[in-house]
This record gives sequence, structure tokens and C-alpha cells, in this order.
Amino acid sequence: AKHERRGSIGFYEEKLTSVSQRKLQLSVKLKQALETEQLRVFYQPQYASETLQIVGVEALVRWHDAEWGWIGPDEFIPVAEEMGLIERLGEWVLLTSCTQGKLWLDNGIKGIKMSVNVSAHQLRFGQFMGTVKQALIKSRFPAELLQLELTESSFIEREQEVIPQLIALKSLGVQLAIDDFGTGYSSLSYVATLPWDTLKIDRSFINRLPEDKAQRQMTDTILQLAKNMDLSIVVEGVETQAQFDYLRSKKCEVIQGYYFSPAVPAEKITF
Ligand code: C2E
Ligand code: CA
Ligand code: CA
Ligand code: CA
Repeated sequence: AKHERRGSIGFYEEKLTSVSQRKLQLSVKLKQALETEQLRVFYQPQYASETLQIVGVEALVRWHDAEWGWIGPDEFIPVAEEMGLIERLGEWVLLTSCTQGKLWLDNGIKGIKMSVNVSAHQLRFGQFMGTVKQALIKSRFPAELLQLELTESSFIEREQEVIPQLIALKSLGVQLAIDDFGTGYSSLSYVATLPWDTLKIDRSFINRLPEDKAQRQMTDTILQLAKNMDLSIVVEGVETQAQFDYLRSKKCEVIQGYYFSPAVPAEKITF
């Protein structure tokens, strides 16, 4: 029995080591990928539910490693945050997306809103405002068409530090969205006190529509809240016709999800 126990502890340690080893290797690879421009940005279209016109896109970073294949942002963004690479990565994504947005404008595709994800870590050292300004200047992309997506974890317990930054960002003319709305904490107080333009309703709120009564009540309530507070709504993770039909019937303006399109390279989008 003694032997067995030791064996299982050994197994546990081995597993732990291989996980942290992968993380370490990942951070080394990610650093190289950033330096050698191996990352890409894909764009997931967002549709007006009434007209099915594309009204915006969400920029989502993609990474293909020659050795490991595709690595998802859910795996490497946390590593980038932990290893101090997120500022550089975020800056690159921002400039790349704004440059793409400007290219669309120059090709006569007007009014497409570009949404870019911002990690809580990027708001940490007070440099972020300068990063956004630089990206707008370098790309010549109009600030009004840029929307920054933040999750509730970005400002939870850090209001003193984050609120002035959000106000400064608004003064540049960019829009602000709460990402994954409803999955964090004390959403309502943050919705009320900070200068948001858009709520993005998380997939987990709509995945059982239209059958699930609780989800129907919840989405109806959030839609009413947004309306009362003069906020735009984007519902993400729409995967079925039935979900789409329900949301459209509730006058939910903008829809994003695999039912319409995953994130794709810019040149694959037909407006
Ligand atoms: P997110 O911001 O909530 O992005 C939405 C995620 O849901 C994306 O995953 C998208 O591909 C996926 N998605 C879209 N439609 C559907 C659908 O109908 N069904 C399902 N099941 N999923 C759908 P992705 O691209 O793997 O990104 C995962 C997360 O990684 C993002 O979640 C975001 O938090 C983070 N991320 C991605 N790109 C960036 C970036 O440039 N910077 C930062 N800081 N984070 C990023
Ligand atoms: Ca997002
Ligand atoms: Ca989201
Ligand atoms: Ca997310």
C-alpha cells in the first residue's frame, strides 16, 4: 500500500511538471511567434438581425505553431498574461485590426465596427491609453469605429484605477463593450456606473433558447435593461436557426455566432 501511494504521488508530480513544462515552452514559442509575426488575426462577422447585413466584426487572435499546430487563445492568452507578453500581443492585435478596418474603409466598405478584446492586464500599468492612441494614429482608423471589449474581471475591485482609464478611452471617441455579460460578478452596479456602449450577452445565456423558460426570461430582462440604459446589445454564440429566430423576434439588434460564421481571415468575409 505504501508503495502504491508513493507511486500515485509520483504520477501526480509528473503530470504537474508536464503541464508547467508545456506552459513554459508555450511562453518561449509565443515570444518567438510575436517577434517573427507568426500570429494572425481572424475576424468573426456580426450581423444586424433585421437585415442580415454585416455591421461589425470581432478580432480574434490565432496562432499556428509549426510543431504543435493550432493553439487556441483560451490556452495562450492566460500564458501571455502570466509571462508579461500580453501588452505586446494586445498592441499588435490592436494595430493589426485597426489597419484591417482602414483597409476595408479604403475599399469602400463603410461603417464596419471593429471590436477588439482587451485583457484586464493591459489596464494595469496605465499605458493602455497611449497604445490605443498610437494604433489609431498609425492605422488612421477612425476612433468611432473601434470598440474595446472588456470583461467584468477587468474592473472588479479595481474601480479607482480603471474608471479614469475608461473615461479617458471614451474621450478618444472609442466605444466600450462589456464582454461575457452576466458571467462575472455584480454586473449591475458596473453597468450603471461606467461609460459603456454595448453589452455582449454570453453564449451560456442563450444556448438553450427558445425551449428553456429561465433563459427566455433572462434574455428578455437583459434586453429590457439594455434598452432602458440606452446600450447596444450583441448576442454571441448563436448556433441555431431557432436561437436566431427567437432573438430576432425579441428585437435583439446584433448577432454573432457559428450559425452565421466563425472567425475567418479578413479576405474571406463578403460584405
Ligand atoms: P471571447 O472574447 O468571449 O470570444 C468569443 C469566443 O467564442 C471565440 O473563441 C469565438 O471563436 C467563439 N465563438 C464564436 N461564435 C461561437 C459559437 O457560435 N459557438 C461557440 N461555441 N463558440 C463561438 P476564441 O477565438 O477561441 O477565443 C477565446 C477567448 O480568447 C475569447 O473569448 C477572448 O477572451 C480570448 N481572446 C481571443 N483573442 C484575443 C485577443 O486578441 N486579446 C485578448 N486579450 N483575448 C483574446
Ligand atoms: Ca470578446
Ligand atoms: Ca465573449
Ligand atoms: Ca470569454
